[in-house]
Amino acid sequence: MKDARQAQGFVFGATRSDTPPEPELYVLVIGESSRSMNWRLYGYDRNTNPQLSDSRNLIVFRDVITQAAVTRISVPLILTRGTIEDEQRAARERSIVSVFHEAGFHTYWVSTQQRDPFTGAINRYPREADVTRFYERRHDGLLVDTVKEMLAQNAAKEGKMFFVVHSMGSHFNQISRYPRVFNLFPDDDSTLSAQQRLINAYDNTIAYTDHVLSDLIDVLRQRPGIKALLYVSDHGENLNDDERGLFGHYQNNEYDLPIPLLFWYSEEYAGHFPDKVAAARNNALRPLNTRVVFHSLADMAGINIHDADTTRLSVFSPELANIRRMVLGEPKPFDFDRSNLERGPKVHAQVHAERGSMTGNAAQPLP
Ligand SMILES: [Zn+2]
Repeated sequence: MKDARQAQGFVFGATRSDTPPEPELYVLVIGESSRSMNWRLYGYDRNTNPQLSDSRNLIVFRDVITQAAVTRISVPLILTRGTIEDEQRAARERSIVSVFHEAGFHTYWVSTQQRDPFTGAINRYPREADVTRFYERRHDGLLVDTVKEMLAQNAAKEGKMFFVVHSMGSHFNQISRYPRVFNLFPDDDSTLSAQQRLINAYDNTIAYTDHVLSDLIDVLRQRPGIKALLYVSDHGENLNDDERGLFGHYQNNEYDLPIPLLFWYSEEYAGHFPDKVAAARNNALRPLNTRVVFHSLADMAGINIHDADTTRLSVFSPELANIRRMVLGEPKPFDFDRSNLERGPKVHAQVHAERGSMTGNAAQPLP
């Protein structure tokens, strides 16, 4: 409660030394339960990224992990300066939404997620936005329509806009996350094993996310001015990948920690911020974790919060530091790169192998 009061009065003191005269539109998309190893953009053997693979001006950060493979911890650490070693900072301070608000942006939060019914940890961040819209458990395509509508309504008056798009992505039950037309890898073929159908449904969620992101990028492209979009998933997922038969997340292992992180920018963005694009390209292979998201978003838009960490923790900075990638663990956080977790799990052959029925998945995964 003390933290909540502190956060209410909290101010970043955000400033901009160079405010571009043209309209600006920045979008943060938060993915759900989406692991990089099932993205074609990360080397998966199935084409789960038919649209984004053709997208120009897309930077794929190859080696990124989350700090906690559970939504209610991960999402606050994506949105704030909190870290897995100082989680309370996510409660004491405001989020990136307020950074943009202070810098003169009109801020929006659109979501297909359920309002966090367990801890309420995430609910406070949408409240920082000027406009919020929740469509609980609908398909993510609705978010694109909503952004489009909001842009059309505000076309005349809103020169500077920041959106947070909180998606349902690949959340269990995967089969409910996409329209039937996205049943590209059959999720209902009874000649396949339950395991194969599970993988197929999961891959369909990735292909649908690919479509949603591409559509959103198209919406941005059609707007005047400077546009950019950052996509990051909150954590990955275990899909009975090996003999342990693990399912869901909150395992904090090689399946639910590695996540996709993508940056798309418009030509106008590259024209105004060529050095940031060049730095991001140079940083694409660096080992990263979700600590970079908050600082990268501020830096992406040239917003200064007078924090020395921004230079060290922004992917748009030529001085990006080597990040010690701490991860939620018992009894205390552990260093992912010093752990004996298999680094960059092989895209497992079982994707096409028949493994018989699912095991070890009696419990529903935590959010
Ligand atoms: Zn999640």
